[in-house]
Amino acid sequence: MLANIVDVEKRIALAAERVGRKASDVRLIAVSKGRSAAEIEELQQQGIKAFGENYVQEFIQKYDVIEKDVEWHFIGHLQRNKAKYLAGKIRLIHSLDNLELARVLHKLKVLHGGSWQVLVQVNIAEEPTKYGVHPSKLSDFLDEISDLDGVEVCGLMTIAPFYEEPEATRPIFRKLYELKQEMEIKKRWLNLRHLSMGMSNDFEIAVEEGATLVRIGRALFGNKEN
Ligand SMILES: *Cc1c(COP(=O)(O)O)cnc(C)c1O
Repeated sequence: MLANIVDVEKRIALAAERVGRKASDVRLIAVSKGRSAAEIEELQQQGIKAFGENYVQEFIQKYDVIEKDVEWHFIGHLQRNKAKYLAGKIRLIHSLDNLELARVLHKLKVLHGGSWQVLVQVNIAEEPTKYGVHPSKLSDFLDEISDLDGVEVCGLMTIAPFYEEPEATRPIFRKLYELKQEMEIKKRWLNLRHLSMGMSNDFEIAVEEGATLVRIGRALFGNKEN
C-alpha cells in the first residue's frame, strides 16, 4: 500500500502544480469503508492521518479498536437518529444535506464538545438517486442553518457521477467552486475554506479545479476482491 500512497500523493502534487496550487493545500482523506481496522492501521503507519467513513455502525466498531490519533471524517449519508453516535469522534462531516439533520446536530452541540464542523453536500449533477442539496436551493439552505450555532459550515462537498473519462467531471467540480465563490460574496458571514471533491477516478481533475479535500478509497487500498 506504500506504493499506492506514494503514487496518489505524487499525482495530487502534480495536479496542484499544473494550476499553480501547493500540494500542501490539498488534504488526502483515505476512504476506509469496508476496510478492516488492520488495513487502516497499516496506512496509518505509512503516514496517512485522515480517514473517511460512510456508515455509523461500521465506523464505531473501528473507532473503538484503532489508535486514537486518527482524524476521522464522516462522508456518507447521515441519518438523524444516528448522529448522536458520532458526537466527539468526528472532525468533519462532509454530508450535511437537510435542515432536520442540521437541527439535530445543533442540539447535540454540547454532547459533541462544541460546534460540529460540516460541509454542505451539493448534488451538482442533479442526479435523482444521489443525496445533496440542489444547487438552486443552496443559498436558502445556508440562510436556514445560519442561526444554528452548533453547526459550523466550513465548505461544500460533491460527488461527481462516474464517467469513463475523468475529464468529463471537470464541469461538475468547476460548478462547485463557482458556487462557493458566489456564496461567499453573497453571505459575508460564511468562511467556506473547504471543497471536498474528487475520488479515485477523478481526483486530479478535482485538484485542478480547487479541491482542498480529496476522498480516496480504491487508489489507496486497492480494489476489493468481492
Ligand atoms: C466510497 C467513497 C469515496 C471513495 O471512492 P473511491 O472510488 O474508492 O476512491 C469517496 N467519497 C464518498 C462519498 C464515498 O462514498
